Amino acid sequence: MNTLTPFTVNPIGFVASPFKEKFGIPRQPKLCPVSSLLWLHGDANNIDCIRDIELNSHIWVLFQFHQNSQQGWHPLVRPPRLDGNKKTGVFATRSTFRPNQIGMSAVKLLDVGVTDKKVWLEVEGLDLLDGTPIVDIKPYIPYADAIPEATSEFAPSAQETQLNIRFSNAAHIVIEELKTLIPNLKIVIEQVLKQDPRPAYKKGKPDDKIYGIRLYDLNIRWSIDADECHVLTIEHVL
Ligand code: SAM
Repeated sequence: MNTLTPFTVNPIGFVASPFKEKFGIPRQPKLCPVSSLLWLHGDANNIDCIRDIELNSHIWVLFQFHQNSQQGWHPLVRPPRLDGNKKTGVFATRSTFRPNQIGMSAVKLLDVGVTDKKVWLEVEGLDLLDGTPIVDIKPYIPYADAIPEATSEFAPSAQETQLNIRFSNAAHIVIEELKTLIPNLKIVIEQVLKQDPRPAYKKGKPDDKIYGIRLYDLNIRWSIDADECHVLTIEHVL
């Protein structure tokens, strides 16, 4: 009989991302061109740990779904891809409610550096909450990791239907004011909302609710009419 020995995982770093709450975070990496920082921590906060990492265009980030750490997991889950009403096996999905709470995202490596003796890596397209603990980082190796003939029946492409995005005049003015601080703010909002972050059961139904998401230190309010999303206001979080 095998004996399985539990082991402890110590975070090697933390994510600093514009996503301050789970609602609205893209469901996979690469869907939104946001830049995030991975700050190394503890013994891993050592420039030697990332020596030559820039020889790779992309890296794997392994992390803990820490905001779900108290919720436990079930063998069957209802992924949004199946409209949230069909159950399927947890290991057949990328559900965030899983044993050991481990997630993985392949992202583009933009830059590395050290600020105030803290080592950081800048990446593009990460799908993670600000503060997410990182448990490992590895290079993405195309010959082994890219499988062009691979298929996935549940998720054959990024998203079957995408919303059109329209900005109010008030929203346009704020985007213009923040141009130097967050140059790609409009694109980031568009890419986040295009995916329609609402719960699966709301899609395709009349909806008169006003929604809000937090991106950077901004509160963004929006509503949906058929296949169009209207960005109403963008305000600083007080
Ligand atoms: N690419 C990763 C994977 O496949 O393991 C993550 C996919 S998971 C479906 C992405 C979602 O996880 C995001 O849309 C967000 O709702 C949620 N999420 C992101 N960071 C999280 C965290 N630290 N704790 C719990 N949930 C998180």
